[in-house]
Amino acid sequence: DTVFLNGDYVAKANAKISVLDRGFLFADGVYEVIPVYRGKPFRVKEHLNRLFDSLRQINLSSPYSESQWLEIITRVIVKNLNVHGDNQSIYLQVTRGIDSDRQHTVSGPLPATVLVMASKLTTGESTLKGEKATLLEDIRWLHCDIKSIALLANTLLVNQAKANGFDEAILHRQQWLTEGASSNVFLVNNGQVLTPPKSQYILGGITRDLIIELCQASGLEVCQRRVHIKELLDADEVWICSSTREISPIIAIDDKIIGSGRIGATTRRMAAALQAFKSELL
Ligand code: PLP
Repeated sequence: DTVFLNGDYVAKANAKISVLDRGFLFADGVYEVIPVYRGKPFRVKEHLNRLFDSLRQINLSSPYSESQWLEIITRVIVKNLNVHGDNQSIYLQVTRGIDSDRQHTVSGPLPATVLVMASKLTTGESTLKGEKATLLEDIRWLHCDIKSIALLANTLLVNQAKANGFDEAILHRQQWLTEGASSNVFLVNNGQVLTPPKSQYILGGITRDLIIELCQASGLEVCQRRVHIKELLDADEVWICSSTREISPIIAIDDKIIGSGRIGATTRRMAAALQAFKSELL
């Protein structure tokens, strides 16, 4: 299991960072998760563009160019083929680096700490499974469009969901749907596909963008607008999506059954379109 850490390729067990790293002390950094199918990173340019955007928003310059990132990612994939197989999930993290002491104010520009590691990706060809979600208040900050490594609220929310037997926490701010704790949310109502628009309240998912493209390509207009939680609970179909979960149907939210309680036709159609799009690239 090999990771990239600050220019070196080392065994995961030997990859160590300083206690003074600002990522460790302040969660001062950003990350990406990139799915890899049959050895190829999927939508990698889109993920890198989002990384550049997150870095820009926290005033960090990218330690590498796009082509350098691509080379690092490719090498991590290749080095882990024998450990994780050719469907992998690449985790990439950049922090503001190691300062001389623990102090909120950064003492000046520091060399960023860069980690790229791989794990096994299990989603893919397997059959769709209906999942259950719980609706919780979105207690996160107001810059959810930044893919920040500060995930305390997200982890508290999803752990609360899991402890109560749910697969995901779907979040709302004052009754308006935002997104899942680690996913975006779509719903289908009277044949119309809806999802909240990109804003500071959600992470603009790479999978979300792709699903919107795939819907349009198959003649389904996606309406990106505010969604009230009442509409969500009354929807015919709901799915969540992310790079590692692809399209996951939601068949119940708390004690409310969604639609017929079975995976809906549009959900199946878009999940199939996503698999077809992936296999065309392979
Ligand atoms: N929203 C949040 C809060 C996430 O953490 C994620 C990914 O994990 C997503 C949405 C989905 O983004 P993507 O499709 O780029 O994986």
